[in-house]
Amino acid sequence: MYDVVIVGGGPAGLSAALMLGRCRRAVLLCDTGHPRNEASHALHGYLTRDGMNPHEFLASGRRELRQYETVTVRDVAVVAAECGADSRFEVTLAGGESVHARKLLVATGVRDEVPPLEGIEDLYGRSIFHCPYCDGWEVRDAPLAIYGRGERGLGLSLELTVWSRDLVLCTDGEAEIDAEGCARLQRNGINLREDRIARLEGRDGILERIVFAGGETLPRRALFFTTGQYQQSPLAIRLGCDFNDKGTVRTGKYETTHLKGLFVAGDASRAVQWVIVAAAEGAEAAFAINTDLIKEDLLS
Ligand SMILES: Cc1cc2nc3c(=O)[nH]c(=O)nc-3n(C[C@H](O)[C@H](O)[C@H](O)COP(=O)(O)OP(=O)(O)OC[C@H]3O[C@@H](n4cnc5c(N)ncnc54)[C@H](O)[C@@H]3O)c2cc1C
Repeated sequence: MYDVVIVGGGPAGLSAALMLGRCRRAVLLCDTGHPRNEASHALHGYLTRDGMNPHEFLASGRRELRQYETVTVRDVAVVAAECGADSRFEVTLAGGESVHARKLLVATGVRDEVPPLEGIEDLYGRSIFHCPYCDGWEVRDAPLAIYGRGERGLGLSLELTVWSRDLVLCTDGEAEIDAEGCARLQRNGINLREDRIARLEGRDGILERIVFAGGETLPRRALFFTTGQYQQSPLAIRLGCDFNDKGTVRTGKYETTHLKGLFVAGDASRAVQWVIVAAAEGAEAAFAINTDLIKEDLLS
């Protein structure tokens, strides 16, 4: 019986494992090694780690865990989890092995719906992004494109005016933005193009131009998209968690959920989706988990 099984070894899961390991809790952390930002080359906005390679960030987190014999890290997928009547969890690993835990922390993150555009794979994470806070500074004042429709496309375009004033919203078909929204774009100097996109062209990971179906080209240095996201793992859905309209789990104080003993932290839960926030949420969940375990174990 582990005190805690943590599913996911991104910033949220690693941070929780560190805290819980230091609380002398028997922790099993299972990870499949595909963090949301795996295509990225530099992590931004994390105090003391700004610009660090995201893979090095995670590797360094794992290295720190090695000194805690209380924490076991395994490169394995969790394929199922169930909560019994005694509020203990049975967790099934890929391959069929079962482990048991008093508490379960799901920190499995989300994935982004990357636009289905020819040429995007070579550019994603280098000059194609979704988060201006993460990657806007590096392309400040550059000619930028936004990819997205409706309220989302409009919202991201207006937000990006902080980083550049040379903005073109490309909706790759009907914009689905009402007259007031279009007027707002115009008032803020943002061009709108509804032409279908044929492909993206660039070199060495850097976007150079958008090629439209009609053959016309639009020189751009980077593109920010807003096309939605989904849970990387179905675990939280299967455990009956409550979701908001963004597709993330509604959690309470300290990342608690509807189920006693189940916690969800990081991008998979509500709130701002940044590495520093995910790490903080993991630490908060660890605090709550340890506090619950103390209460359960101490004689009154
Ligand atoms: C291109 C890009 C660039 C970004 N740049 C920045 C940036 O500069 N700064 C910033 O703050 N944020 C950035 N982000 C956001 C950042 O990636 C997330 O906020 C952060 O990774 C969330 O951490 P997490 O621990 O919640 O989830 P993740 O980092 O996604 O980690 C989840 C982990 O769980 C594992 N997992 C999933 N399912 C299972 C399972 N069933 N069993 C076992 N393991 C499982 C995954 O393999 C993964 O390792 C960027 C995102 C993208 C897409």
